[in-house]
Amino acid sequence: MKGPAAAPLATGRTFCNFCPAYCCYRLEGASLYVMAEDINRIARHFNMTDGEVRRRYIEDRHTFKTREDGSCIFLATDRLCKRCTIHEVRPRQCRDFPYDRPCPYLDSEDLLARIQPRIERSLGLARRLTGSKS
Ligand code: SF4
Ligand code: SF4
Repeated sequence: MKGPAAAPLATGRTFCNFCPAYCCYRLEGASLYVMAEDINRIARHFNMTDGEVRRRYIEDRHTFKTREDGSCIFLATDRLCKRCTIHEVRPRQCRDFPYDRPCPYLDSEDLLARIQPRIERSLGLARRLTGSKS
């Protein structure tokens, strides 16, 4: 028997446009895999050499550096959606996720519970930046 139909917002990419990017925070034991082609594309975008990109943004040979809260170094801190600052040249894995399946971050209370506090800290920052009191 088939299970309930997955919510279209969670399965399609549409929701990504309105999502605070749960998938751009590193979780323990998991990391984004950045390939050589990704590095080259980003290097051309910034008009840098591949080596410069590696020195500035890569750690452990194949993943982006993160901030203290685990957020990707390329995640904007001044807005709460469309936060990838290298969206047009982002790595293949970022483009493909969640692989035409329901987004696991929207399906799992456990994952949301681990990341939501970090998002809320970002929200505080966004409010300060816009001067909003709401
Ligand atoms: S893949 Fe999931 S967590 Fe990532 S931006 Fe899209 S909806 Fe949000
Ligand atoms: S490169 Fe962009 S999409 Fe990929 S993890 Fe970093 S901020 Fe998210």
